[in-house]
Amino acid sequence: MSRRLVLLLLLLVGWWAGTGRAQVPASDLKPTVILISLDGWRWDYAQKYSAPTLSRIMARGVSSALIPSFPSKTFPNHYTIVTGLYPGDHGIIANSIKDPPTGRRLTMSNRTEVQDAMWWGGEPLWVTIQRSGQIAAPFFWPGSEAPIMGQRAQFWQPFDDGVSPNRRVDRVLEWLDLPTGVRPTFVTLYFSDVDGAGHDFGPESRAVADAVRRVDRYLDRLLRGLARRGLQDRVNLVIVSDHGMSEANTSRVVILDDYLSLNGIDIIDLNPTLGLFPPAGREEAVYRALAGAHPRLKVFRKAESPPSWHYRDHPRIPPIVGVVDEGWQILRRSTLASQVAKGQHGPIGVHGYDPLNALSMRGIFVASGPAFRSGVTVPPFENVHVYDALAAALGVTPAANDGDPKVARSLLR
Ligand code: AMP
Ligand code: ZN
Ligand code: ZN
Repeated sequence: MSRRLVLLLLLLVGWWAGTGRAQVPASDLKPTVILISLDGWRWDYAQKYSAPTLSRIMARGVSSALIPSFPSKTFPNHYTIVTGLYPGDHGIIANSIKDPPTGRRLTMSNRTEVQDAMWWGGEPLWVTIQRSGQIAAPFFWPGSEAPIMGQRAQFWQPFDDGVSPNRRVDRVLEWLDLPTGVRPTFVTLYFSDVDGAGHDFGPESRAVADAVRRVDRYLDRLLRGLARRGLQDRVNLVIVSDHGMSEANTSRVVILDDYLSLNGIDIIDLNPTLGLFPPAGREEAVYRALAGAHPRLKVFRKAESPPSWHYRDHPRIPPIVGVVDEGWQILRRSTLASQVAKGQHGPIGVHGYDPLNALSMRGIFVASGPAFRSGVTVPPFENVHVYDALAAALGVTPAANDGDPKVARSLLR
């Protein structure tokens, strides 16, 4: 064989391997959902910046601004999306939590705690579907590392932000390539680029514009992979974000220790939310010192927090809770001083604000595929309603939750 012929054959084999994948036969594919979280993707980013792939999916499907649950942070909201429960009901009440009955603490990076089922209340969607005989692959989704209700998903792995976005997309495509019987029907993906850029430089920055474009390219890689398998219109894509982003800087800061001595107070949450466990007997004094102390700070006794927060009952919610107004921060004096000393005066990004007051906290909901309506925009809705919609798309009966099935129905075909 001439060298030319060999080269041509090699090229042909390469082309076949890349594009000529065995397509999944129609009869073989159970209703499938790929749930994608774009951390910190604010409701207006697709229009404000350039996201051609997401815009295409929006045009094909149903989209809306997604209202996060309080507090508008990553762990509470990701777990709300897959349980339909407010954080005050599922128990992931913040990104860092103290559990008073046991004295234990959870942070997002503490693998031992994150992998302990005791933290995770309610029934996540992967458990719901596995109980009805389907297979799940929640990939880096908060909660997926713990054996909740006695079971983990069939496919999961410990969170590792070092796994490249392209690798994540390819892993999902590999799962879809599995034969029927072992192929998952519920798969998730997670990208943190936009949240990271938003924190470092603020939502108006070039860095966020770049991150938006980058994440859009990960979506494009996924769509091209699905198309090669003949799956582009046959699986449901559901793209959500956990919260938006607000611009802040060092000139709009409430200094916590201006109003009370922090001695002995367990500060479990700070900026822009406030969560305090005062020493026994000092709750009322701490509340009085902070209530009305600063016009930009709202402080509540746990039992009197805004009803819309659904944030009163869980034992992990601290006795004193609060939040500053959109665009403001609440910091210890020493934290602010060290930021100023480092010359960090420019815009940064903050989230965690009251989801109903702060428009900048709204994220996105975009769904396209056989289960969802096509070419429509619906009014903003709270993220507790997503679980019911996903359960319907997968044909399973949802567990009891805080969502209203009417909202879910407004999204479905
Ligand atoms: P937040 O500032 O609340 O938006 O948190 C964002 C950070 O959460 C990301 O930068 C990730 O490092 C972290 N994160 C996201 N998902 C997970 C997870 N499943 N396990 C641990 N950490 C996570
Ligand atoms: Zn987040
Ligand atoms: Zn964030």
